[in-house]
Amino acid sequence: MILIIAEHKDGQLSKSTAEMVQAARASGQSGPVTVLVLGSGVNEVANQAAQFADQVLVADRPELAQYSAEVWTAAAAQIAQQGQANTVMIGGSRSGREYAPRVAVRLDAPYLEDAIALQAVDGGLQSQRYSYLARVTETQQASAPTVVVTVKPGAFQPAAATGQTAEQYDVELELPQPRLQVTGKNEEKLDRVSLSEADIIVTGGRGVGSAENFSTLVEGLADALGAGVGATRAVVDAGWRPYGEQVGQTGKTVQPGAYIALGVSGAVQHLSGMGKSKYIVAINKDADAPIFKVADYGIVGDVNEIVPALIQASR
Ligand code: FAD
Repeated sequence: MILIIAEHKDGQLSKSTAEMVQAARASGQSGPVTVLVLGSGVNEVANQAAQFADQVLVADRPELAQYSAEVWTAAAAQIAQQGQANTVMIGGSRSGREYAPRVAVRLDAPYLEDAIALQAVDGGLQSQRYSYLARVTETQQASAPTVVVTVKPGAFQPAAATGQTAEQYDVELELPQPRLQVTGKNEEKLDRVSLSEADIIVTGGRGVGSAENFSTLVEGLADALGAGVGATRAVVDAGWRPYGEQVGQTGKTVQPGAYIALGVSGAVQHLSGMGKSKYIVAINKDADAPIFKVADYGIVGDVNEIVPALIQASR
């Protein structure tokens, strides 16, 4: 089987889980696509996973209320061994990248990191990943009975629902007592959808002019559309926006249904993070800006004139 460890937050399955399901299906590997949901009170998450997967395994226990690398490692390795998984897929989130190598060690398995493409080949699994700040795309091949993979968030389209509801099975696990616990958390509350979950993203580039203009134009349009907010590196380097919003080679990879770029030139390093978006809309006053080469819809004009009119029209 292909074992996917679900990522979820606040009772909702994360988009990254549906992306892993898609990566598994598109890879051509054999075996049922199996999602393992670990957590406490995760009934609804398991129901959501059942819309995409071939089967869902659920460990719903109070000890799993909080993520712990030690516990997640033990759980993933046990289920992989019991189910003789040929592939264990883990999200390329911060926590995923923390425990995935441990799972690989536990299973004595090769570890493919940060996959942006996956393909079953004769005698193994091939993956691509960026390296050297995405200047190089590297192909790796792992040949072993079990392979552990982390999947780069945003690199795959989320899988569509199968139209059927997969069977769910409760699983028994022997879990260790974690020796490390998070004892405090100060979380910034986001009023809008996060970049990794957004189906529409409005991104501002240096062309929006200033941090204040960014708030008025980019955040204004994003809020009118219920979209996430992205930024170019030029904007982040200027201190107008936090690094967490940077899209591109050294930022996040996104693949929303619609990507709206305001005052963004379209440098290759930016395009590599958003070029697979379904529809790209660009507004730029320079008709020769490279962003227009990838845009499905383009407006040549000043963001200061066009965006307020768009915000008005979207309300
Ligand atoms: P600019 O290139 O300055 O473009 C601004 C655009 O706004 C221009 O096209 C201009 O015509 C237009 N404009 C100006 N005024 C207006 C107006 N009033 N109305 C409409 N349009 C207007 N960049 C990223 O974004 N993400 C990355 O992850 C990233 N990683 C990098 C990694 C490396 C190793 C390197 C070397 C570079 C990286 N960069 C990255 C930087 C990248 O090369 C570009 O410098 C950057 O993307 C440019 O940002 P920008 O489009 O906002 O600015």
